[in-house]
Amino acid sequence: MKEAMFYKRLNGKVECLLCPRHCIIPEGKVGFCRNRKNINGKLYAIGYGKVCSLAIDPIEKKPLYHFYPGSKVLSLAIAGCNFRCLHCQNWEVSQASPLEVPYRELSPEEVVYIAKNYNSPGVCYTYTEPTVYYEFMYDTAKIARENGLFNVMVTNGYIEENPLKSLPMDAMNIDIKGNEEFYKKICGAELEPVLRTCKLAKKLGIWVEITNLIVPGYNDNLEDILFIIEFVRDELGKETPLHFTRFHPDYKLLDVPPTPVEILEKARDLALQMGLKYVYIGNVPGHEGENTYCPKCGALLIKRDIFSIDIVNLDLKNKICLVCGEKIDIIC
Ligand SMILES: [Zn+2]
Repeated sequence: MKEAMFYKRLNGKVECLLCPRHCIIPEGKVGFCRNRKNINGKLYAIGYGKVCSLAIDPIEKKPLYHFYPGSKVLSLAIAGCNFRCLHCQNWEVSQASPLEVPYRELSPEEVVYIAKNYNSPGVCYTYTEPTVYYEFMYDTAKIARENGLFNVMVTNGYIEENPLKSLPMDAMNIDIKGNEEFYKKICGAELEPVLRTCKLAKKLGIWVEITNLIVPGYNDNLEDILFIIEFVRDELGKETPLHFTRFHPDYKLLDVPPTPVEILEKARDLALQMGLKYVYIGNVPGHEGENTYCPKCGALLIKRDIFSIDIVNLDLKNKICLVCGEKIDIIC
């Protein structure tokens, strides 16, 4: 347990300033994310160091397709989330208190030691919502960076500006899940702060990739898809990779069928037509929409098969297409 960052005291209660919820937490209670508890008028990160998931994952699984492609990254989570998505794929850990799930106690130093021991080039904060275990992520990320490792985060983007600005983060995959109504009904949250996070992350020089999980009947209409494409193109830039991923029934949305592949293909075609350079289809193994193509000449640059990759017509050192010489937006 560690005293939380980003909160203020209010006569025995505290106001958490970490995420846009701004929970007012009475003595002895935890915030919406189940991770931050008011003990004697001070806010504590009760999940600090209680790591419930730890694995070496291909970075493609995040998904991050333009950041150290092919690397295997130490990935971790502490339970909890500041959303309540009805279709959460990780609800066993995201919709639980960090004290209720099996965990192993680790220090930030130990995480970095494990990463280095396994030759992982970085540390990934993922599976649940990393924002809710901010203090552990912050401490670990600082030590990781001092040791020459990168930090990447897979997030719903629900974080306040100051905490985001303080994080030594190198890349983020941020979900844009749908329109305002989708956020309200399905996630129990609001859209606007997520868009703000995407823009701020980009401004801070963090490599950003966007994921939009398309749920049939909920966010698969043309208007919603157009909105996301235009936002990415106009506010984040054409070089920002956009992943349209396939929904599978989970948690409380079990009566909704998986996304028809044609819908994902239509969304991808539309985004490419509208000028985005790198648009992907996710959760459809073997689909050509998983590959990276040159935005200028169309040559295949990176072939992906589930999580294994094959660099084809790409000079990764100079980051250019070997067929036409176009500069390719890749960080490595
Ligand atoms: Zn080319």
